[in-house]
Amino acid sequence: MNAKNLSERLKKVASFVEENTVLADIGSDHAYLPCYLVLSGKIQRAIAGEVVQGPFDSAKRQVSQEGLANHIDVRFGDGIAVIREEDNVQTITIAGMGGPLIASILEAGKDKLAKVDCLIVQPNIHAKAIREWAIQEKWMIVEETILEEHDKIYEILVLKQGSMNLSEKELLLGPILMEEKSDIFIQKWSNELAEWERILEQLEKTVSTNEILLKKEELVHKISLVKESL
Ligand code: SAM
Repeated sequence: MNAKNLSERLKKVASFVEENTVLADIGSDHAYLPCYLVLSGKIQRAIAGEVVQGPFDSAKRQVSQEGLANHIDVRFGDGIAVIREEDNVQTITIAGMGGPLIASILEAGKDKLAKVDCLIVQPNIHAKAIREWAIQEKWMIVEETILEEHDKIYEILVLKQGSMNLSEKELLLGPILMEEKSDIFIQKWSNELAEWERILEQLEKTVSTNEILLKKEELVHKISLVKESL
């Protein structure tokens, strides 16, 4: 993968970015996503944020190699703290991390989101944490997609400002994804079901403490939620 030849996962994230928006890509690593978007002419200006020195240096190098230093500002810092008011950022992308980490980055930076139009997030696991955060902070899901690449399944959520209500099933599975019920969605949740059933079987064989009983109850509940939806 490089800035001209993105992974299918990041290409899909890029496809949700609106033309000429001002973008902040948080946890940008090599800054492939903002470089790709500027090189393709879709956007003119971006900030690439990184909190770890190695990826920050890679992002700096990549932006300079592509000759994009006038378009992409690579900044060292934690999450949304790298965004300044005068940047007028309209879109934030956060990709390739767990859902709880993405939700914690959004929560820590929520004071800077008032003028942001669109959040595009790609959790590797536990997208539910982001849906919970979105309900609490009044963001609504306008698009969701699911894709498979190199035997891994990824979800992408696009959020805009506004309220939404989600049922327990929708929180877990995604309101749009469970409606569409694509083959990849069915595969993802069939894999999860098989794993939960395997764990439940193991737990049935162990001595029951309160903790194990609670875990078993939680698994039985999640298994029935997902079975009803497939
Ligand atoms: N976004 C790229 C992608 O999807 O391919 C890179 C994903 S990489 C697995 C996650 C990156 O997020 C790492 O480079 C890590 O240093 C960075 N990161 C993690 N927590 C962060 C935070 N709080 N603020 C900024 N960057 C963060």
